Amino acid sequence: MIEAKIKSTVRDVADFPKPGIIFKDITPILKDAQLCSEITAALALQLKDVQIDVVAGIESRGFLFGILLAQALKVPFVPIRKAGKLPFKTIQQHYTLEYDSAVLELHEDALLAGQKVLIHDDLLATGGTVVAASKLIAKLGAEVSGCSFIIALDFLNGRSRLAEYTPETFALASY
Ligand code: AMP
Repeated sequence: MIEAKIKSTVRDVADFPKPGIIFKDITPILKDAQLCSEITAALALQLKDVQIDVVAGIESRGFLFGILLAQALKVPFVPIRKAGKLPFKTIQQHYTLEYDSAVLELHEDALLAGQKVLIHDDLLATGGTVVAASKLIAKLGAEVSGCSFIIALDFLNGRSRLAEYTPETFALASY
C-alpha cells in the first residue's frame, strides 16, 4: 500500500530546521524511481473526480511531484515561489509562519480568470503556506479546486484551516 511505502521511505530528521521540529525528508523517495512513479499515479488517482485546469506547485519541494502530476493529468504547471525568484511581473502575498513572516509570488499571467487550480506541495503542516497560495490564486480570479500533498501532519489541524479556501484536501500519507 502506498501510504506504508511512503512512511517506510521518508526519513525523520529531528531538530531541523530548528529545535523541536521533526522534518520529514522526502529525498529518499526521490532515489526510488519506481516509488516516484507509484506516488505520481496515486496522486492522480486520488484527484480523478476533481476538476483541474492547472497544477500550481509551491517552492521548492512542491515542484518535484507537482510537475510530474501535471504531466500525468496532461495540464499546465505553474510555480508559486518565494519572493524575488520569479523573473516576470508578479503578484505577492505576505503570510506569517510560526516565528517569522514571508512572501509568496506568482507571475501575473500565470492563470486565467475562472481556471480551476490544484495546489500541490510535499507536506501539509499548519496550512499557512497553502492559505497564502490560495489568496494569490484568488487575486488572479482563478479558483482553487483542491489541494494535494504527499504527507499531511494531521495533528497540526491544517485540513480544518484549509476548509475555508478549498473544497478538497488530499494526502497520500497522514500522521
Ligand atoms: P505550513 O505552512 O505550516 O503548512 O508548512 C508547510 C510548508 O513547510 C511546506 O512547504 C513543507 O514543505 C514545509 N514543512 C513544514 N513542516 C515540515 C516538516 N515537519 N517536515 C518537512 N517539511 C515541512
